[in-house]
Amino acid sequence: MIIVLKQGVTASAIKELTNRIESQGLAVSHFTDIKREFLGLIGDTTGMDPHQWQASPEVEQVIRVADPYKRANRKFHPQNSIVSVGDQTIGGDRLGIIAGPCSVESEEQIVTIAKQLKQAGANFLRGGAFKPRTSPYSFQGLELEGLKMLQTAKAETGLPIVTELMSTKWVDQFVESVDMIQIGARNMQNFDLLKEVGRTQTPVLLKRGLSATYKEWLMSAEYIMAAGNDNVILCERGIRTFETGTRNTLDIQAVPVMKELSHLPIIVDPSHAGGMSYLVEAGAKSGVVAGADGLMIEVHNDPANAWSDGEQCLTPDEFSSLMEKIRSLAIFEGRSVAEASTILTN
Ligand code: PEP
Ligand code: MN
Repeated sequence: MIIVLKQGVTASAIKELTNRIESQGLAVSHFTDIKREFLGLIGDTTGMDPHQWQASPEVEQVIRVADPYKRANRKFHPQNSIVSVGDQTIGGDRLGIIAGPCSVESEEQIVTIAKQLKQAGANFLRGGAFKPRTSPYSFQGLELEGLKMLQTAKAETGLPIVTELMSTKWVDQFVESVDMIQIGARNMQNFDLLKEVGRTQTPVLLKRGLSATYKEWLMSAEYIMAAGNDNVILCERGIRTFETGTRNTLDIQAVPVMKELSHLPIIVDPSHAGGMSYLVEAGAKSGVVAGADGLMIEVHNDPANAWSDGEQCLTPDEFSSLMEKIRSLAIFEGRSVAEASTILTN
């Protein structure tokens, strides 16, 4: 439910109305557009009679919002959200580029590639330390050792680090060690995990589930936000369709749809969508043209010998030439690529 306030209502009247709403067990989001002020009612308003608010002298109109997601909903937050991640931001005019190998394999590997990625213009370093693998016999990640290696790569380059969290048991270590927590496609509806990362203030990159609808995806964002963490970034990474010729199908329409439904930033991961390195450029460019706030791209020093997802990884040189194209395309689209971190310049 959204309450449209009459023009000229005083701050104390708004406060008093807010208190009355909160006393009914609801949360309130106060927002404005160029002309009006609004109060968004967040919580279970299904049994509530809009007329109870309509009668208040400061209320112009009460609008029912049928969507089950509220905090993630653009109707409750008309302006685009910009999320700070380390010394960078995602959202707004500048694209954030997250790049790195699927898995962290050794300190030398991750430090070497981090330097190459920074040189090519990436703003964030990715690398899996805990890996969600289809087979229990596949490499599962270097776990906490891998987190330390990512931190070393950050110390050497200044690039903020993004890595996947799969279990609630490591939340504290992640909060201390990483700049952004990735919730992978397979865990998009792990509600306990969503609630736990929601209790932190660490930015969360929420990948779309393998077969998740837009509404299910936004409800997962809502879990994180309802627990207290508004720093959510969506990531379209391809979905399951009847087509088996590619790993997944990149749903490029997800970008404008999410922009319409939500104020949260959205990035595109063309690597996991296509599953083959030759598809990455087309997916990345489409993401930029569709209005994404950034890209996540897998890059490996030696794709043929990568411990996971080698077929979809670009080499550092390929990534560098893609970045040239992305920079030009971003300008054509009235955007730009964010400058890489300047904390350290190794
Ligand atoms: C990944 O980013 O390495 C990954 C496993 O992604 P997804 O959850 O999208 O499959
Ligand atoms: Mn991967």
